[in-house]
Amino acid sequence: MTHSVYWFTNDLRLSDNRLLRRACEQSSSISFIYCINPEWFKSNRFNCQTLGAQRWAFLVKSLHQLNSQLNARGQHLVVYFKAPLEVIDHYYSHHNTRVIYCSDQIGLYERQSLTAITNKYSEITLKQSNTFTLYDMHQLPFDLSELPSTFSKFRKKVESSNLSIKSPVQRPSHFPAPLIAPVPWPKSLPKVEQVNCDFDAGEIAANNHINQYFSSSAPSKYKLTRNALDGMANSTKFSPWLANGNVSVQQIMHALQEYEQQHGANDSTYWIYFELLWREYFQLYSVRYDHQLFAFSGISSNKPLTSFYPGRFKQWCMGTTPYPIVNACMKQLNQTGYMSNRGRQLVASCLVNELKLDWRFGAAYFEQQLIDYDVAANWGNWQYLAGVGADPRSGRHFNLVKQTHTYDPGNTFIKRWRGDEVYSIDSADAADWPLSSY
Ligand SMILES: Cc1cc2nc3c(=O)[nH]c(=O)nc-3n(C[C@H](O)[C@H](O)[C@H](O)COP(=O)(O)OP(=O)(O)OC[C@H]3O[C@@H](n4cnc5c(N)ncnc54)[C@H](O)[C@@H]3O)c2cc1C
Repeated sequence: MTHSVYWFTNDLRLSDNRLLRRACEQSSSISFIYCINPEWFKSNRFNCQTLGAQRWAFLVKSLHQLNSQLNARGQHLVVYFKAPLEVIDHYYSHHNTRVIYCSDQIGLYERQSLTAITNKYSEITLKQSNTFTLYDMHQLPFDLSELPSTFSKFRKKVESSNLSIKSPVQRPSHFPAPLIAPVPWPKSLPKVEQVNCDFDAGEIAANNHINQYFSSSAPSKYKLTRNALDGMANSTKFSPWLANGNVSVQQIMHALQEYEQQHGANDSTYWIYFELLWREYFQLYSVRYDHQLFAFSGISSNKPLTSFYPGRFKQWCMGTTPYPIVNACMKQLNQTGYMSNRGRQLVASCLVNELKLDWRFGAAYFEQQLIDYDVAANWGNWQYLAGVGADPRSGRHFNLVKQTHTYDPGNTFIKRWRGDEVYSIDSADAADWPLSSY
């Protein structure tokens, strides 16, 4: 008899989850758990918290939906408001659990957390597999320690190797009996605020969105529209669901290939794959560079010539800088939990080049705000823009006036998000820092 725990992390789905299928096949009883770490709500060294209101609302909805799907199969999700080690401790001591299933983790702290468990409990068997990246590590035509130094080199190697993409698998046909009875969610969990968000969380919403996207003609125009600052159909908007694992990247690739078979492939449909390869590159980059992902000097040997100015950072976060396009993007982020890729590039460039701020504060603020926050994509892209990452041209300085003319010629976006309420730099009182919320 195997009493197991399936620890959900960023794989919040039942379908195309090979690890979940394995857990269901191999266990006689099982507890499906999710650990909400109290640390996520504390202020960190960048005066931000891990989970802001938008991310929290998205996650909670995703968990509720997962629980409903499990309920329909005689199972349930047990949600803890505790650090993972404490939760595993409880299962080890009170439920004789010796087998834990958990997806491969990309983030440094998540990997450290798993190591802490295996170090503490030699009797526990940790069963893991990849549920997050397009290719498994062993498929790659290089060793991780030899990850190509630029995305272009990586892409060429991957494309010339013609790697196979796994076909998605069905959800498990049978779910073992629950190891413990349903437990109400902890009362001490932070309240979920009413948020204004274009995205509905969870696996069902993810599949609906993907079906809708590939039933439209948007994929055939993707390359021409993806740089728009606004507009649901201008880019795929897969990111929040991918980041939470409500859908697998293989499911998306499968839908893309079907679309190409029916409607023909073109530059735009290829470019969706191209962007997913960027995602893939940063996932590997995070594991390859470990703690350097969060270092001021990144993976380079030079520290940037920027610093921390509380007032300027506050202006950037609130969208009250002298730059209307940046203000509009930041207000959009604060209100919706999402910002376009072009917007992210512009606000990051502004933080580093115009405001001369330490890039890690920007990355930490994005971590708090973005509903599609992904440790690898976020910190990797910030490094890239700050000139301390995988960028041969060392940093990107965008001309904000020129970018406004190109991407918001009629100022429609700026007006919509009230970016034109500008303030001069350093006008905010540094004594106001830190703010309790945004
Ligand atoms: C400073 C900065 C921070 C970012 N932080 C995140 C983050 O926390 N989470 C996140 O998912 N993306 C992040 N990105 C990448 C990108 O901006 C978003 O993935 C994209 O805007 C999401 O919208 P979409 O799904 O419509 O993307 P699309 O343009 O439709 O792209 C399709 C998918 O490809 C992937 N992708 C696209 N561009 C990138 C990229 N540059 N790097 C990695 N993957 C990419 C995403 O999974 C995306 O869903 C960041 C970019 C920058 C410049």
